[in-house]
Amino acid sequence: MIPGIHVLTSAGGQRFSFDPGSLSLELLATGGPGEYRRWEILHRPADLADWLTRTRLAAAAPLTAGDVLVRPAELARIRLLRDTLWAVAPALAHGERPDAADVEVVNAAAGEPPRLRVDPADLARRWVTPVTGGQVLGAFARDALHVIGTPALRGRVRECADDRCRLIFLDTSRPGNRRWCSMERCGNRNKARIHRNRHTTQPTVT
Ligand SMILES: [Zn+2]
Repeated sequence: MIPGIHVLTSAGGQRFSFDPGSLSLELLATGGPGEYRRWEILHRPADLADWLTRTRLAAAAPLTAGDVLVRPAELARIRLLRDTLWAVAPALAHGERPDAADVEVVNAAAGEPPRLRVDPADLARRWVTPVTGGQVLGAFARDALHVIGTPALRGRVRECADDRCRLIFLDTSRPGNRRWCSMERCGNRNKARIHRNRHTTQPTVT
């Protein structure tokens, strides 16, 4: 398991790996407003604590669910930030300016993030625990502001090129040519379709 890469299950039951490319966009893979409600995985604070151990936060320093202390009100604010990012990120992906009120929601959420320390015994990085829900909110919002406020990054926010797929990611590839949420899923699906089209449109020689 690589922190930051999530295993998702499609409506058809296919499991596939998805790297959203940045911490704040990872949050979009946990559910969302409206039609995304059915994908909700952050029902209780314990769900968030468990999920965080699979995010980029766990790449910066080891993180267990027991290190995280989330109150229900904090979870609600994190879900509100996520639902707001579901409006902001697609706007960026389509080259549009996000709604001002939505950007202000992100600004207001960008409080203090979790603190890292270096253990003097082994010089390894550790999180100062407990990592609180408020700090987690701050980490997600700060990452989102970094992406929104950096032209080179916001221009790399993409929606999967499959027109049936709404997954959003930050394209961190060097040439900037990532098109699919996942090669396992939409990449292969479209490769197969292009292959099929090529064969069915060929004139039949009789
Ligand atoms: Zn896709």
